[in-house]
Amino acid sequence: MTTATRSERFRQLAEAASVELADASALDALEWTARTFGESWIVASNMQDAVLIDLAVKVKPDVDVLFLETGYHFAETIGTRDAVDLVYPQVRIINAEAEQSVADQEAEFGLLNRTDPNRCCHLRKVIPLRRTLAGYDAWVTGVRRVDAPTRANTPIVQWDERNGLVKINPIAAWSDEEFNGYIAEHGILENPLVQAGYPSIGCAPCTAKPLPGADARSGRWAGLAKTECGLHG
Ligand code: SF4
Repeated sequence: MTTATRSERFRQLAEAASVELADASALDALEWTARTFGESWIVASNMQDAVLIDLAVKVKPDVDVLFLETGYHFAETIGTRDAVDLVYPQVRIINAEAEQSVADQEAEFGLLNRTDPNRCCHLRKVIPLRRTLAGYDAWVTGVRRVDAPTRANTPIVQWDERNGLVKINPIAAWSDEEFNGYIAEHGILENPLVQAGYPSIGCAPCTAKPLPGADARSGRWAGLAKTECGLHG
């Protein structure tokens, strides 16, 4: 099958599923994903919590999990990743890294996260993500509509034009109450920084506590116009 034929086939599949699964539960969306894509799908996690991983292992115990190892994470985030590895031993965690180490990048360009965060995210997140996703037909994300105004229209299934594969957002419709209820009810692993007041966790240099009453993602790249890494929008 040529690349163009494959893309067209998956685009049509995603468009049909977007309608059929518009109101699907998270587990129904994941069961469809496992049925449709077999081994060729991966769950992205920023290791803020293991909600999505816990749901995914119910339909595929040895699911692949993508972690963007930017080299700039909080120690707590790396610790959460390692805890996921212990709690879900069948899961295969894939650490997607940039071509340059942090030390080499800083030697060549300085602190891009301060001077040009879009370029830093491109080098350390967007390119490693794209390279990893090239080996799959679908990816699953934990994006929720309540995360930020930019995510308010997130569908359960969509065609990801930029990366050329199907994107499934099983918990897109979950409220904060449903999300936190799942964590409490199932004893799900959570990054300790969440309880320390960080409701949205990215790389350490670009994550601050939001001001009281501000939206959860407002602590990401605080003080800059940037609100997204370039992974989802
Ligand atoms: Fe760089 Fe910050 Fe983007 Fe991480 S979030 S890749 S440190 S700019």
